[in-house]
Amino acid sequence: MTTAVGNLFVIAAPSGAGKTSLVRALVDADPLLQLSISHTTRAPRPGEIDGEHYHFTDVPSFERLIASERLLEHALVHGNHYGTGRDQVEMAFAQGRDVILEIDWQGARQIRQRFPDCVTIFILPPSRDSLYERLQKRGQDSAEVIARRIANARGEIEHATEFDYLIVNDRFDAAFADLAAIVRAVRLSMRIQGPRQAGLLQQLLG
Ligand code: 5GP
Repeated sequence: MTTAVGNLFVIAAPSGAGKTSLVRALVDADPLLQLSISHTTRAPRPGEIDGEHYHFTDVPSFERLIASERLLEHALVHGNHYGTGRDQVEMAFAQGRDVILEIDWQGARQIRQRFPDCVTIFILPPSRDSLYERLQKRGQDSAEVIARRIANARGEIEHATEFDYLIVNDRFDAAFADLAAIVRAVRLSMRIQGPRQAGLLQQLLG
């Protein structure tokens, strides 16, 4: 169990819920928030840049990261390994920043164990139709590929109720405002504000 210095936000969602766009917009709007770049053994997709979207690696290197305890959590997702680097998170906290992890439900469980004060958020699409529509978006995919994506999305959604907050991404602007509101409320919680405003409290009571 570890006490984080900054706030640790964990965001999960089935693919097709619009999580990545929401998180990117949030990080762009909030200089105190740092997105952790995960390590993965998945091959880069066209347009993905090493060190920006992921730290792309191979299985032996990933196993070395695990063995040397350089990962705060790791999981096998859709046949590929993914993990959160410890150094990045610790460095962000040392700089007084909050950290956001975009990970799956298995990783979220491990982070909850390690950082009991973390704040976990699950994002849902507004309906089954909209989810299926988004999962079928690349018109040339086979029925088998689409069926696998749907099964994977269901597997993630099954764990939604383990999370502290639930956002329905019907309209981007509204979902973004919801996400920003959670971050803001957490920063105003007594757990954070109590120690931060201890001097003021003392002065007012003195
Ligand atoms: P994709 O390969 O489509 O970018 O991501 C597939 C899944 O892996 C998503 O659900 C994503 O949240 C999850 N994922 C990405 N990075 C990590 C990580 O560092 N740890 C865990 N546990 N899951 C991750």
